[in-house]
Amino acid sequence: MKSWDAIIIGGGIIGLATGYYLTKKGKRVIVLEKDEIGAGSTGRCIGGIRQQFSTPCSIKLAMKSVELFARMDQEFGFSVEFEKSGYLFLAFTEEQKKKFLKAIEIQRKQGLEVYFIDAKEVKKLVPGIDAEGLIGGAYSPQDGQAYPFAVIRGFAMGISRTGEVRRRARVVDIMVENASVKGVVLEGGEKLFSDVVINAAGPWGKEVGKMAGLDLPLYPERHEAFITRRWKMESIPMIVDYRKDGGYFQQRINGQIIGCYTPVPNVPGKRTDSTFEFLKEMSYRMARVIPELADAQVLRQWAGSYTMTPDGNPIVDESEIEGFYIAGGMSGHGFMFGPAVGWALSNKIVDGEWGLNMQEFSIRRSFQKAELLK
Ligand SMILES: Cc1cc2nc3c(=O)[nH]c(=O)nc-3n(C[C@H](O)[C@H](O)[C@H](O)COP(=O)(O)OP(=O)(O)OC[C@H]3O[C@@H](n4cnc5c(N)ncnc54)[C@H](O)[C@@H]3O)c2cc1C
Repeated sequence: MKSWDAIIIGGGIIGLATGYYLTKKGKRVIVLEKDEIGAGSTGRCIGGIRQQFSTPCSIKLAMKSVELFARMDQEFGFSVEFEKSGYLFLAFTEEQKKKFLKAIEIQRKQGLEVYFIDAKEVKKLVPGIDAEGLIGGAYSPQDGQAYPFAVIRGFAMGISRTGEVRRRARVVDIMVENASVKGVVLEGGEKLFSDVVINAAGPWGKEVGKMAGLDLPLYPERHEAFITRRWKMESIPMIVDYRKDGGYFQQRINGQIIGCYTPVPNVPGKRTDSTFEFLKEMSYRMARVIPELADAQVLRQWAGSYTMTPDGNPIVDESEIEGFYIAGGMSGHGFMFGPAVGWALSNKIVDGEWGLNMQEFSIRRSFQKAELLK
């Protein structure tokens, strides 16, 4: 009989971060991944890390992540390409500016370095930007980026020192007795036992919840992305253009430009096919903001999932089944939230306290309030 201190379903950033911080607390952990680590959303994200949110809970969670990202090179012994390259939210209307100013007030109260800069300063920060109609932008030099594949590799190596990260291990059932979790069943019939099981299955979170008899409000949506060849080194921060036909893109530390936009209407489901429409639209949207980027050459495009909840905020909580935790619905923020979510979950599981205010992510909330800076 195989028994573990914790069983984690899903080898994305959330499952691996949770496994890593539990391991650091001396727990024997197994991460079960049906495919390859990073094969879900994590290996398809664009690596952006921001702390500019509109509620104290989300801001503090992201700030904790930044603290953890900053330590990774030293902890892992190799670079995760974490860089404070900044995030700039563009304001084209007074209404947008007002919204940003309101968020900045909340962010500053949490200790984040963030400013509203006018169009002139935006031009200095992003040479070549087309400032037509631009009022200014919300900018934090403390936001940034990291390389997702390096981050999950570091977490997986850390777990493997005392525990296990098992690839090609699909969980097909969850064992529950008297409203307490007891373990999982793998495809092929092998049973693994633990009083702690974490559903970190990303876009498959709803299906995994069903295995324990839960109907979780998790809904995947397709999001596409592309990356260009190296662009001259300008160090373009993440530019977030919230106009209806806007998008977000940043320059990676090696010079490539990587970006995406949120399709309207959204594309429900776990589809990961790419479209010509995205290629065309994203190129247009990026070049509209920085006209010179019309010359950038697209190297590759792909798609992945955002896992949504009704209010766009994650669920990080113990479910009604004792010992069965849910860490899902990360929307477009799972990479940046990942380290702090894993850290907080490890605190809750081992010490009984989250170490951060996680109320906003409770499974028992009303799901009515939406994050303003989605
Ligand atoms: C185009 C795009 C751009 C993005 N950009 C950003 C960004 O800049 N910043 C940011 O913070 N976030 C970004 N995101 C969002 C981010 O990728 C996700 O929020 C995050 O990766 C979610 O991580 P996860 O661990 O919850 O899920 P996943 O990475 O999907 O991991 C879940 C894993 O569970 C495994 N699994 C599922 N079912 C089972 C089972 N039954 N048994 C075993 N294993 C199972 C899956 O194979 C998968 O590997 C982006 C997403 C996309 C698609």
